[in-house]
Amino acid sequence: DNQIKKAFCDKKFEFKREITLEKSRAKRLVLNEERKKLPIYAFRDEFLQAVNDHQIIVIVGETGSGKTTQIPQYLHEDGYTKHGRMIACTQPRRVAAMSVAARVSQEMGVKLGHEVGYSIRFEDCTSEKTVVKYMTDGMLLREFLAQPELDSYSVVMVDEAHERTLSTDILFGLVKDVARARPDLKLLISSATLDAEKFSNYFDLAPIFKIPGRRYPVEIQYTKSPEANYLDAAVVTTLQIHATQSPGDILVFLTGQEEIETVEQILKHRVRGLGTKIAELIICPIYANLPTELQAKIFEPTPEGARKVVLATNIAETSLTIDGIKYVIDPGFCKMKTYNPRTGIESLLVTPISKASAMQRAGRSGRTGPGKCFRLYTAYSFQNDLDDNTSPEIQRTNLANVVLTLYSLGIEHEKLLRFEFMDPPPADAIKKAMELLYNLGALNGQGKLTKVGRRMAEFPLDPMLSKMIVASEKYKCSDEIISIAAMLSVGNSIFYRPKDKQVHADNARLNFHSGDVGDHIAYLNVFNSWKETNYSSEWCYENYIQVRCMKHARDIRDQLAGLLERVEIELISNSNDLDAIKKSILSGFFPHAAKLQKNGTYGRVKHLQTVHIHPSSGLAEVVPRLVLYHELVLTTKEYMRQVTEIKPEWLLEIAPHYYQLNDVEDSSSKKMPRGCGLAH
Ligand code: ADP
Ligand code: MG
Repeated sequence: DNQIKKAFCDKKFEFKREITLEKSRAKRLVLNEERKKLPIYAFRDEFLQAVNDHQIIVIVGETGSGKTTQIPQYLHEDGYTKHGRMIACTQPRRVAAMSVAARVSQEMGVKLGHEVGYSIRFEDCTSEKTVVKYMTDGMLLREFLAQPELDSYSVVMVDEAHERTLSTDILFGLVKDVARARPDLKLLISSATLDAEKFSNYFDLAPIFKIPGRRYPVEIQYTKSPEANYLDAAVVTTLQIHATQSPGDILVFLTGQEEIETVEQILKHRVRGLGTKIAELIICPIYANLPTELQAKIFEPTPEGARKVVLATNIAETSLTIDGIKYVIDPGFCKMKTYNPRTGIESLLVTPISKASAMQRAGRSGRTGPGKCFRLYTAYSFQNDLDDNTSPEIQRTNLANVVLTLYSLGIEHEKLLRFEFMDPPPADAIKKAMELLYNLGALNGQGKLTKVGRRMAEFPLDPMLSKMIVASEKYKCSDEIISIAAMLSVGNSIFYRPKDKQVHADNARLNFHSGDVGDHIAYLNVFNSWKETNYSSEWCYENYIQVRCMKHARDIRDQLAGLLERVEIELISNSNDLDAIKKSILSGFFPHAAKLQKNGTYGRVKHLQTVHIHPSSGLAEVVPRLVLYHELVLTTKEYMRQVTEIKPEWLLEIAPHYYQLNDVEDSSSKKMPRGCGLAH
């Protein structure tokens, strides 16, 4: 009897497996047909011939023509990976790198991470087998540290070049140099916009390969008068389209996760209010921190009779192509980094987009048929308020991180000043970066990289964070510091606050702050408590903590532990000495000190800038005299996020080259405490 049962089970199993295999075979057949329909397909042979004939090629083709997914496959099929070398394809955004790699692995019928993989900061999904590697531009930049001539690659494709991210711009200079040293390396610069001449000129007149795209007409509608609230307007427009327009999916451009979640909630609520008379509206958010499973959802075909609305950040402008979009809603804003090289202050600001961006966004609706774009601003505003183009990131960002990377690649001082930038950064910005690195001890008085600097460069983090980690050796608390660094790297979404349980959530959060230890130590408490529960998810739910963020933090922490070993810093715990931990943090973040002023606000020490403690901080009600902060965010006010109290004498102990006695003296009459060991 048992034997029969077993035979039956085996048969059933075999049958199941066959169905699965059959399914994936069928899926591949479908995908193969889809590949052939892409505009680039007709130019496959011509393209491969061009790559054969030239070392460097600039490729231009509309979003969705198949550049990112097809070119690496064509090159692979044509034998460019034969000699054990890989094809690299860089993306400015990690979501794009992951999602495209997933797609290409399906098209090739292989498991993600095997022949096709991706590499993003703190996550390497590649293996010995990998031949096609999608990666962020920042990761390729870091690979130069280990292999200055990129020996493991036969082709480097710098994709989405038009985005002109900081890392892409630096890569331009580096790959151009490697191409001279390695005639066998093929270099592809690909862009979705038509300013290819500029790239071609920069790369010694490299030929331009154009992929003619199909484009359908897009009807553009403006609002008659400016919108007071573009989120509301976006919701209303979405519902109007859904109720009155012919079938076709909607793409809404928003500036970030918070906006997307807000709009998602309002939409869900309103749709429920409409009852069952109206067709189903499937809401799909997409942003960098969205879990991978949910990211895939935006690509699922919309069921008959329903309509999909994709709520996306700028990522959907050119990096990702979603089929079936017929309507675009463009509120006209994006989040953009701005940096003031004079003050060294960097902020992420919601800013109006450029005309070029607006055109790209509109274009998303006319890929598979005529489309419509609803601009939530006036025609006058488009003409008069929007810049023509977005300035390259290199001209509006803090350069400390790349300057440190370039230094450790041997591009120091004069060489750095002679570096071939496509558009040079403001001279002040390089000076400011060198100044910060000098103050952190990464450069010496002669402008040379120090041992501290070399160690810092090993960490894929901002220099202040790397310095905090390197300094933990001295304070014997590396164990605690890497946990804090990992938590800080995960970002601000660790604690969540459901609308109906805000009081519970806040209480849970404050538990980690007991003793007014500050936000950094609170992060440490969260991490350690979670570890004590053996990384329990249950515990996270009970404490209103995002499991996903914690797991991510644990991964990052493991990697930081590995890097500590590389720079030969022992993993030591000093959990009872909170002052040592705070001093270690201060060693990296002393430029971020702020002092309580008479009027109750804070002033950045040495910078005459008024700042406030963010209401989410555990110290918001405590109001300490002197604090350090992790970052500034500008919303209604300039807020300090992640704040820890420090002692005035620590500033003079840790950064005597930066602060003088009068900087830290209490302006509100009280004198410095006696006997704090100052040589004055
Ligand atoms: P380009 O790089 O020229 O903008 P892509 O190669 O990214 O074009 O896109 C080609 C096609 O592949 C598009 O039709 C798009 O829908 C599809 N595609 C790309 N990425 C994915 C994905 N992650 N899932 C499903 N389809 C995808
Ligand atoms: Mg692409």
